Amino acid sequence: MHSKLSRRSLVKGGLIAGALLPVAGLVSRSAEAAALPPLDPSDPTAKALGFVNDGSKVDTKAYPTFKPTQKCGTCAQFQGKPGDATAACTIFAGKSVPQGGWCQVWAQKT
Ligand code: SF4
Repeated sequence: MHSKLSRRSLVKGGLIAGALLPVAGLVSRSAEAAALPPLDPSDPTAKALGFVNDGSKVDTKAYPTFKPTQKCGTCAQFQGKPGDATAACTIFAGKSVPQGGWCQVWAQKT
C-alpha cells in the first residue's frame, strides 16, 4: 500500500513537472533577454549598421529607404514577443535592443 502511494505520487509529481517545464523554459528565456545588456549605439557594429534606440531619430538622408513603421519590434531579427520592451537581436549577439529601435538590417517579421 505504501509503495503504491509512493508510485502514484511519483507519477503525479512527474506529470506536474512535465507540464511545468515548458513554462519554466519560457520564463527563463524572458529572464535571459531581460538580463542582456542594452546595445550601445556607439558600438562599432551598431554604428556601421545605423542602429538607433529610437526609430524617430533615424538619419533619413543616410537611410532614405527607412519608413517609420520599421522598428525592432516588427523586425524578423527581434527575438521578443509583440509588446516586449526589449529583446535579443540575432544580429547583435549578447545584447538587447528596444522594440522602438532600428538599424539598416531591418526586415519585416512574417
Ligand atoms: S536587426 Fe532588426 S531587431 Fe536587430 S537592431 Fe536591427 S532593426 Fe532592430
